[in-house]
Amino acid sequence: MLQQRTITNPQPKPAPLVSTSATVYCPICTHTVPAEVLSRGRQTWVRPDQKCPRCSASLAPGKVLALNRAA
Ligand SMILES: [Zn+2]
Repeated sequence: MLQQRTITNPQPKPAPLVSTSATVYCPICTHTVPAEVLSRGRQTWVRPDQKCPRCSASLAPGKVLALNRAA
């Protein structure tokens, strides 16, 4: 009798790239500001073409603090 094995997915699908709004820390003016971020799987980064609404610096080096998930 043949034994059927459960095939573990050898190549998991890449997580989709999602754009969401989040709270981002601006290192230039040291404030937290709302911004658009991109996330894929567990990785999250600030969309690079954005500027801080307070100091107009690029938010690309900013740190994503919290995602604003829709309830
Ligand atoms: Zn700023």
